[in-house]
Amino acid sequence: MEKTEEIVLRGLPVSRGIGIGQPLFFALGEEDIPEVHLDPLAIEAEIERYRLALRMSREDVEKLQQLSLNDGPPEIVNILGTHLEMLQDPLMTSGMEEKIRKSGKNPEAIVLDVISEYKKRFRSIKDGYFQERIRDIIDVSRRVLGHLFPMKRMRLASVPPNSIVLAHDLVPSDTVEATMQVGAFVTASGGITSHAAIIARAKGIPYVAHIDIKLFKRFDQIHAVIVDGSQGIVIVNPEEETLKKYQVLKKGQLQNFRLMQNAAHLKGETIDGYRVRIFANLEGSEQIGFALRHGSAGIGLVRTEYLLFPRKRFPTEDEQVAIYKKMALRLGPQRPLVIRLFDVGGDKKFEFDPGSIDFNYFGAIGHEPNPALGCRAIRFLMRFSHLLDTQLRAILRASIHGDIHILIPMVSDIYELRHVRSRLAKLSRDLRREGVKVARKIRVGCMIEVPSSALLCDELAKAADFLSVGTNDLVQYVLAADRWNNDLTSHFYTPAHPSILRLLRMIIASANRFKKPLLLCGESASDPLLIPLLLGLGIRDFSVAARAIPLVKHVIRKWRILDACQLAEQALEYSCAEDLKRFLQERIASLDL
Ligand code: PEP
Ligand code: MG
Repeated sequence: MEKTEEIVLRGLPVSRGIGIGQPLFFALGEEDIPEVHLDPLAIEAEIERYRLALRMSREDVEKLQQLSLNDGPPEIVNILGTHLEMLQDPLMTSGMEEKIRKSGKNPEAIVLDVISEYKKRFRSIKDGYFQERIRDIIDVSRRVLGHLFPMKRMRLASVPPNSIVLAHDLVPSDTVEATMQVGAFVTASGGITSHAAIIARAKGIPYVAHIDIKLFKRFDQIHAVIVDGSQGIVIVNPEEETLKKYQVLKKGQLQNFRLMQNAAHLKGETIDGYRVRIFANLEGSEQIGFALRHGSAGIGLVRTEYLLFPRKRFPTEDEQVAIYKKMALRLGPQRPLVIRLFDVGGDKKFEFDPGSIDFNYFGAIGHEPNPALGCRAIRFLMRFSHLLDTQLRAILRASIHGDIHILIPMVSDIYELRHVRSRLAKLSRDLRREGVKVARKIRVGCMIEVPSSALLCDELAKAADFLSVGTNDLVQYVLAADRWNNDLTSHFYTPAHPSILRLLRMIIASANRFKKPLLLCGESASDPLLIPLLLGLGIRDFSVAARAIPLVKHVIRKWRILDACQLAEQALEYSCAEDLKRFLQERIASLDL
């Protein structure tokens, strides 16, 4: 094969738009640590380097112990004690030195071996106590590794302009840093509603997943790569003609987007005058101006867990108050601000800063055997209640500055709602006693994103102040198909599935019965194929990435409510996802967006 000829690769379309540029392999962390066979004369010096890393790790832990004695959660003192003991244990001292001498390998490679060995054991052991001990060993080893090999992870904030970023996988902490310098993402794994994908769409970065990125290494030379995020196509070394065609297409798409942006101030309403509210989903307070410029009626979802990424720890109460207050003031009293409690876990993994208390407390989040079914969101917050209390106190303190609502993620049944309400009542009393003003009433809503809460929607609609349907997760859990990382099952992940439609009908009916507002904040709310269907089913409040608001308005303004209802009625008759998809494609004229 002439390795400079044009090659077309087909993958999963994740984020629309066209990117044209040079490929850039995105280096990951621990995988890139080199294994070096040492010169026998260098071994003692390497052991000395290892001892120094051990000493520095002990000093870290001692400092943290001091800190946590004053204001850390009580359990952490015990964890830190265990870590200090481990750092003095022969397993970490003489045992590791022996391994370096015997293998002749560099210390970081040896520590990495230990980590992967224990990771394996962690997966095979079911006993909670032993799992905790293994996690401690992994955390301690990572701390030592951090001193041996300070990992300079490549940062997407500083890639050359128009880079076509190639990676095995992307996690939200990577994509959240990406700027417009990134021309496109191409990954081997990933799914359409993974959080990395959500961020790519929110930033307008084209993205194609399920491409064998190893292929790129086989080319002698790559003069350009084209990524067509709408079609799921990646073209390597395009011919002159192909390049020209895509340059024209890209220009056209940009013009289209600008035209639609100009219409962002128009009302969200159907041809026959039915009002629809379109809110924005945000990952950070800095996007508020952008959301308002795009015609947002308020903020329907703040993914507060994104506050952890830049800090590599949980934000403090005061930091949270400052952020929530700033957002509320910017929105004013008329526009709601729905603050979702930290939805950590699942594919929102966190590696904490080894210098933070959270590192010793959790090590990392989302590294469970089955993170999507694990200790995620409100389950995590109820398990580590000091985090829930801190966040609720911060929201209460900010509550007098705007129309703030609280949203609980991953609700399973009414117990979580009761728990949050009772903590809120207690914390409000405490704050008032301290002389702090808090709003008289804060509305508390439940996310419907697991089957149990969908089936209990009547009870939840009765008890909660509002509901918010998270279709990204609801689809994953109802259809038992990973939203994130499995190219073998991604075709099962179908938001336009007959079962999802029926559940939505049920949830909407419950909200209407108890006259409670209902938002739809999953990615389906910005899918032009699904918007008319959602409208017809009865959704009147949509919450989408700010960038998608003009598109959603544009689609809604083309429909009559009666036609949308008729479409929904017909769609509800289907029992096969494929047939339903075909029906929708035929019925909804291609909007060429
Ligand atoms: C959802 O699940 O649809 C949702 C909006 O939450 P997230 O995407 O943050 O999990
Ligand atoms: Mg969710």
